[in-house]
Amino acid sequence: MNQDKIFLLKGKIQNYAWGGYDFIPRLLNVENPDHKPVAEYWMGAHPSASSKILVDGKEVSLNDEINKNPKVFIGEKVEQRFGELPYLFKILDVRELLSIQVHPSKTEAEKGFDAEEAAGILITDKARNYKDRNHKPEVMVALSEFWLLHGFLEKEKLSTVLKSVPEFETLVPVFEKESYKGLYKYVMELPQTQVDSILQPLVERELANNSSDKSQPGFWVRRVYEYAQTKELVNIDRGIFSIYFFNIVKALPGEAIFQGAGIPHAYMEGQNVELMANSDNVLRGGLTPKHIDVPELLKHTKFEGVIPNVMKGELLLNHEKNYPCPVPDFGISKIELSSSESIENTSFSAEIIIVTEGEISFQHEDKTLTLFHGEAAFILPETKYTIHSETEGTAFKAFVPKID
Ligand SMILES: [Zn+2]
Repeated sequence: MNQDKIFLLKGKIQNYAWGGYDFIPRLLNVENPDHKPVAEYWMGAHPSASSKILVDGKEVSLNDEINKNPKVFIGEKVEQRFGELPYLFKILDVRELLSIQVHPSKTEAEKGFDAEEAAGILITDKARNYKDRNHKPEVMVALSEFWLLHGFLEKEKLSTVLKSVPEFETLVPVFEKESYKGLYKYVMELPQTQVDSILQPLVERELANNSSDKSQPGFWVRRVYEYAQTKELVNIDRGIFSIYFFNIVKALPGEAIFQGAGIPHAYMEGQNVELMANSDNVLRGGLTPKHIDVPELLKHTKFEGVIPNVMKGELLLNHEKNYPCPVPDFGISKIELSSSESIENTSFSAEIIIVTEGEISFQHEDKTLTLFHGEAAFILPETKYTIHSETEGTAFKAFVPKID
């Protein structure tokens, strides 16, 4: 039987409250008549929101197809190593700041999951930290100017911040004596009344300022309050400290950043393509009404200064740029074709490709699938295919790196 190798893939929209209204609907060419926030578009086989693929004119669940025929759909080596499609590919549109978070390492996730299972904490319990036994490294490539918090400031810089903000005077000796961990533990465990007394004058001053400089913490404090339920300066979210303690990073379109286990981070504004391991293990440190487990968070945070590594991508082949990620679960590249250009390709793993601009066609033997912006394809492992654009086109590709 001559099996199809390239399938049209339909992902799933996620209407989280922090999302923007227009970017994803416009990309996907769909209406948003109820003006709902459209935060994410998921492409993958996650059991809770599997994508559909079009097989013989019928939409079927990608997750079901993989489970029925893993050798064909993800390949033998990936099946042996991961037992599933190891990545989840997304488009994100961030309007409000997301929670400050840390993801555990693979070993720590296994331990944490098993401990919560043994303790009988239901997977649906709000206090549950570990939803699976996997790590959750993430990489994002910016589609617009993108802003995020990423890792602690280097020692000198953090010292300067603590000394220059008058409300942080009491934190200076804590950092000097007990370094990153002592400082972070101190603010994360501080009684709420003391959090309020430190942050109240600071927030008040920042709110009175109207600078539009996004490289400064004050801008993001104002953004937090723009979307806050209450404008009163009580029960102030202690996540505000992290806006001052972490690197405020800007990524330009086409630039990428990888976030590994233990690096505290939070997306603040913009649109991106995001790729992550298939996991939902998130430990939160503020800017959220969701569950915060301080001891677990402290256990998994890397307490060190970070110099953000904003990647511009490495030219792999003609027209294809790779953003190297130090994990076995996924890889990401950007494909850019000008008018009438073609490239030959062979997939060595299951690939998902989304066209973000223009038009690109994918040809295997006598079959051609043409995709316009917002459309995606699922490509079986070991497929020889030609990528071509009549006009011009940009796409992002998710794959599993070669397993030896
Ligand atoms: Zn994250």
